[in-house]
Amino acid sequence: MRAMVLDAPRRKLRLEERARPPAPGPREVLIRVQACGVCRTDLHVVDGELTAPKLPLVPGHEIVGTVIAAGRAVARLKTGDRVGVPWLGWTDGACAYCVSGRENLCDHARFTGYTIDGGYADLTVADERYCFPIPPAYGDVEAAPLLCAGLIGYRALKLAGAAERVGFYGFGAAAHIAAQVARHQGQRIFAFTRPGDKAGQEFARSLGAVWAGGSDEAPPEALDAALLFAPVGALVPAALAATVKGGSVVCAGIHMSDVPSFPYRLLWEERVLRSVANLTRADGDEFMALAPQVPVRTTTTTFPLAQANEALAALREGKVEGAAVLVP
Ligand SMILES: [Zn+2]
Ligand SMILES: [Zn+2]
Repeated sequence: MRAMVLDAPRRKLRLEERARPPAPGPREVLIRVQACGVCRTDLHVVDGELTAPKLPLVPGHEIVGTVIAAGRAVARLKTGDRVGVPWLGWTDGACAYCVSGRENLCDHARFTGYTIDGGYADLTVADERYCFPIPPAYGDVEAAPLLCAGLIGYRALKLAGAAERVGFYGFGAAAHIAAQVARHQGQRIFAFTRPGDKAGQEFARSLGAVWAGGSDEAPPEALDAALLFAPVGALVPAALAATVKGGSVVCAGIHMSDVPSFPYRLLWEERVLRSVANLTRADGDEFMALAPQVPVRTTTTTFPLAQANEALAALREGKVEGAAVLVP
């Protein structure tokens, strides 16, 4: 099998040929990878901003593939099933968070492509309990971004609550999916890109944004909620300033540059500032049922598996429209 391997942070991934495929444990399945999305979180891992990866590591947590072997205790999946593997790879099912329906916050969670080897490979293993069936309407490449960009975007949108005017700060993989869901729900979308990114603004308008501009601009109307997908802490006070009384600002990324200090009056009047962490399996089930109804269409740019470094570089430079996807 082939895998793209991270030996240490801030190094390029290395293509490794392995004689032996990974062996599935009792509740695990061996999956032939057909597509794996490249998420901004992968960049945070490779760049050393997330500091506790297993090493060496095979990144990648937006995996679409086919089950080719199953451990002895596997009950839900069988050989030939097409599955998606998301970021949440395992939880203990026993901590206070798990037993209160918040397994996304599990004290002992393991994450695909971070503390478990992921999908930048042609074979991978995953715990069957954390895999999702992929809606048949989607091709493998199209489906890959649903597994993190889609899920996290959906959870962020949900946590923003009932909001008519929703700001999207950063219009990449997650926003381009969440915007379609928002529009489907009758919400109005205001898209903020890097200043001067006319192509990104045009892309946002093509997905139904009623306004698109630079993140240094004020929207033409106050926002009822704002979702921050760009990992830029300075956008927090900007988003609060653009939001109405009682509005929510939801930070959807796993890592962000420091939030600068800001006057309390930006938070005053019951504005809510919160983050979104990970996903629950319930989020995944809900979103996978909703996506084909919208229907969510994903915009993707494919790269061969061996060009994972190039895909990460393109994402780092903001040069990917929609989502980058690796194809073995
Ligand atoms: Zn737990
Ligand atoms: Zn992700």
